[in-house]
Amino acid sequence: MAKQFKPETLCVQAGWTPKKGEPRVLPIYQSTTFKYDTSEQMARLFDLEDSGYFYTRLQNPTNDAVAAKIAALEGGVAAMLTSSGQAANFYAIFNICQAGDHFVCSSTIYGGTFNLFGVTMKKLGVDVTFVNPDAPEEEISAAFRPNTKALFGETISNPTLEVLDIEKFARIAHKHGVPLIVDNTFPTPINCRPFEWGADIVVHSTTKYMDGHATSVGGAVVDSGNFDWEAHADKFPGLCTPDESYHGLTYTKAFGKLAYITKATAQLMRDLGSIQSPQNAFLLNLGLETLHLRMPQHCGNAQKVAEYLSKNDKVAWVNYCGLPDNKYYALAQKYMPNGSCGVISFGLKGGREVSIKFMDSLKLAAIVTHVADARTCVLHPASHTHRQLSDEQLLEAGIRPDLIRFSVGIENADDIIADIEQALNA
Ligand SMILES: *Cc1c(COP(=O)(O)O)cnc(C)c1O
Repeated sequence: MAKQFKPETLCVQAGWTPKKGEPRVLPIYQSTTFKYDTSEQMARLFDLEDSGYFYTRLQNPTNDAVAAKIAALEGGVAAMLTSSGQAANFYAIFNICQAGDHFVCSSTIYGGTFNLFGVTMKKLGVDVTFVNPDAPEEEISAAFRPNTKALFGETISNPTLEVLDIEKFARIAHKHGVPLIVDNTFPTPINCRPFEWGADIVVHSTTKYMDGHATSVGGAVVDSGNFDWEAHADKFPGLCTPDESYHGLTYTKAFGKLAYITKATAQLMRDLGSIQSPQNAFLLNLGLETLHLRMPQHCGNAQKVAEYLSKNDKVAWVNYCGLPDNKYYALAQKYMPNGSCGVISFGLKGGREVSIKFMDSLKLAAIVTHVADARTCVLHPASHTHRQLSDEQLLEAGIRPDLIRFSVGIENADDIIADIEQALNA
């Protein structure tokens, strides 16, 4: 399906193709387990010799249909759903890094991912070096070590809204024989498909635009199938040497282009178990059915709001890569010519206190710990999502203390602007 159809059609139709007499709408397979007729049939599944469902922690038909839709949208070979974006990021790295390994990561990433990589994964023995994504190639290359196994970045960073030069990152990763993993949560595959620019693995917090209605926390890992693990077999023993927990099966030999995603499902999901519930996958699928309609509306509204803010003299600064004077405008035009995302950040003259007063005065836009929802919402990272970071870490992550993260919804742009205006005057 991926090859034949355009993204709009994939949003609506990919993943679930019912046969004669089957439900038109993707059913929720609310079942932990699946029935077989012989013991032999079941045994073959456990040996990964046959594909089929046996236990929802490993695979579930509802989840698989939605994962297939996301894989088709990204242009990948396969995907796996996870219980959250955090789980997706953890699995994406842990699938190829074990204790003693190291990876390189853009310093401007989501605060939760920053903690996961910089604190929790270090406790597991996986080390990370954060680099300024805008630094020259030689400087980023200098962070690589013999035990480096991956390079990681966000297409558009949350909440700093910096645009990743994906081609540059892919070049650096491949020069060092490791895959580029890109968190594509903010643009979604409607606005950017990182595989087309050389990324090897894509991760998502499906909680954001993909769900789009703030109903379900979820994540996804998508495999392009393009990275040649065997060519760097010494770096990736988990994929290129026998897995004792599967009777000595070697993922690259048994599954070829599907090696990475099969290991993530058959080994990590089996052992760590952060599955998405089929009910949530069903809701995610409903969101995906309108993703191609919602993204242009989010982006169009955000553009209008950003232009309004940049002309208002109460506003100290506005950061939106759709504004021609933005530092990332050229990169955004290159990687996301049809629009980037609906999230804007800005600061008000008078700093932190004025920003907080402004937020408290908004009526349409709600203060919530969320972004990328159909409803306009707003957050102050320094006092909310990034509370755990020191001022030094905040600045390192590019977050000013007065930064307001404004997630523009799909309401009428004039109504959103009127709400901002009355709050600025309050
Ligand atoms: C929200 C977010 C995450 C974490 O996802 P959850 O679904 O909240 O676990 C990861 N990356 C980015 C870019 C995000 O915006």
